[in-house]
Amino acid sequence: MSNLTKNFFIGLSNNRILNENAKKWGFRLGADKFVAGTNMESVADTVKELNKQGICCTLDHLGEFVTEKKEALEAKDECIHILEKIHEDSLDCHLSVKLTQLGLDIDQSFCMENMKEILAVADRYDLFINIDMEDYSHYQQTLDVLKQLREEYKNVGTVIQSYLFRTQEDLEELKDVRLRLVKGAYKESADVAYQDKRDIDKNFLNIAKQRLLGDAFTSIATHDHMIISELKDFIKENNVSKDKFEFQMLYGFRNDMQFGLAEEGYNFCTYIPFGTDWFGYFMRRLAERPQNMNLVLKDTFYT
Ligand code: FAD
Repeated sequence: MSNLTKNFFIGLSNNRILNENAKKWGFRLGADKFVAGTNMESVADTVKELNKQGICCTLDHLGEFVTEKKEALEAKDECIHILEKIHEDSLDCHLSVKLTQLGLDIDQSFCMENMKEILAVADRYDLFINIDMEDYSHYQQTLDVLKQLREEYKNVGTVIQSYLFRTQEDLEELKDVRLRLVKGAYKESADVAYQDKRDIDKNFLNIAKQRLLGDAFTSIATHDHMIISELKDFIKENNVSKDKFEFQMLYGFRNDMQFGLAEEGYNFCTYIPFGTDWFGYFMRRLAERPQNMNLVLKDTFYT
């Protein structure tokens, strides 16, 4: 896709007014293909169905542009509600969170307190919390918060993005941390990030191989069959134990591959976003893959 199209959708994802209005529209433009539902109760059924097929899940209660403490506290309460439901229903599932949703842009120590409350509940139920990585302006703060949280809790990890130059350097400090490896979903400048897909893919493969030979657990999060195929060969050649990693994909993407990898005996985890705040997430997915526009057109003109 041209950079122009990508920038257009990333621009829309950052538009506060559209994000705010979309909450009132309900799912539109085909978003229901990628966003599993509006509340935890309905999403629990989706998780149960996937669990039956040997797939574990990570839930993301969507939320963007949190600028008021009240909204951050509501998001924290929702996270706790999700953890309680996971525990009650014995779901094979963990939780992914975004620090900005929990108040990072308001006050870092307030965000930290919210995270600690969530982690205390997760710890009680033996559940893992993954901190999603957002754009580069939040990168260092995210690593700082993670470091402090890990002084008290070990059931927390984060995400590394192979488009960033500095990921390789940060890996050493993160070598004991459970991580998700992704390419990176935001528009970053050429000062901090590779712009060419070949460089991003090469770095992804290097980091994945390094992690697979290390000790900590890694979630390999990509829909890229070329990368998955090369890593499967690497895993076989190096006798990497299947307990040390999983493949992850987003809900609604490449379902055949998701079920196929689980059937082949790999640990597989589906990332399931839900909630009414779907617009920014959906626009980032359109930025990544123009073919998703077909869904938008179908939904707009044929329903
Ligand atoms: P791409 O580079 O988009 O695609 C590579 C190739 O794979 C394509 O050319 C095509 O041949 C094939 N392909 C890809 N998708 C499809 C499809 N649907 N159907 C058919 N073929 C396809 N980003 C962040 O910045 N922070 C996060 O915390 C984060 N968490 C994520 C969690 C998960 C589980 C996943 C899967 C992604 C996450 N991302 C996150 C997004 C990620 O950074 C990428 O933007 C996104 O995954 C697109 O890159 P890709 O590796 O999937 O493949």
